Amino acid sequence: MTLQGKVALVTGSTSGIGLGVARALAVEGADLMMNGFGDVDEIEKIRTGLAKEFSVRVLYDPADLMKPDQVAGIVKKTQDELGSLDILVNNAGIQFVSPIEDFPEAKWDAILALNLSAVFHAMKAATPGMKAKKWGRIINIASAHGLVASPNKVAYVAAKHGVIGATKVAGLELANDGVTVNAICPGWVLTPLVEQQLEDRARKNGTDVATETTELLREKQPMLKFTSPESIGAFVVFLCSDAAQTITGAALSIDGGWVAQ
Ligand code: NAD
Repeated sequence: MTLQGKVALVTGSTSGIGLGVARALAVEGADLMMNGFGDVDEIEKIRTGLAKEFSVRVLYDPADLMKPDQVAGIVKKTQDELGSLDILVNNAGIQFVSPIEDFPEAKWDAILALNLSAVFHAMKAATPGMKAKKWGRIINIASAHGLVASPNKVAYVAAKHGVIGATKVAGLELANDGVTVNAICPGWVLTPLVEQQLEDRARKNGTDVATETTELLREKQPMLKFTSPESIGAFVVFLCSDAAQTITGAALSIDGGWVAQ
């Protein structure tokens, strides 16, 4: 176990990629602060299950990260109740698909608030403690859409490009403080966020989810296969390792060749 004694906050870890990352960190012995929405009993089952299976401390906080004070609040709660915050994984994110001319202002504001501003607020709150300890890892889950665009995703693409910019700035600022800051840029990962898009496409095109799954992959990825949350978890663990201590300010793709084209 390589992360024993470290404390990690993984935002949006009740589902999908965040849950895969939380699990991978727990396997390595990190104590965890979980966050995200969902069924209260289900979340409690996940929380106690991880704690028991890997003998780590696991807390959960339902902070709504669209609200800056709640972002600062969960960072402080992690430090107060788990003793530190060494690994920050900014993962919580949402999507909305529409052409710009019909894109609701409220969706733009919500996506920017969660997918971009929360990353800034969390990094701001977490860095003083990491600098003081001369060790820290900040990993921002961006997207292939942080590097290239697709139509109908203006808020998401803008926010994810912003996350990569903020990652570079933080990487530079913290370069000699023992703190690395990187963005992971996944291609398609089969999670509720993508399942929703598949269902919407099937409804719109009068097809089915299986047909749309094949199409979705074919449109963007040379490799016709989803990345798993477990692979992203393993990537995060690697970025927390000593071997990765000079990787910083980087936007790292795990995307089946999406942005190689
Ligand atoms: P998901 O919908 O499975 O999980 C999103 C998580 O964020 C959930 O835990 C949810 O409860 C939480 N969340 C939503 N609103 C929140 C809020 N206001 N405050 C706190 N938590 C909130 O989605 P996912 O696919 O696992 O996505 C995770 C991250 O990965 C996102 O940032 C997404 O943009 C990114 N990503 C996903 C894919 C993909 O193909 N699934 C690809 C590239 C990047």
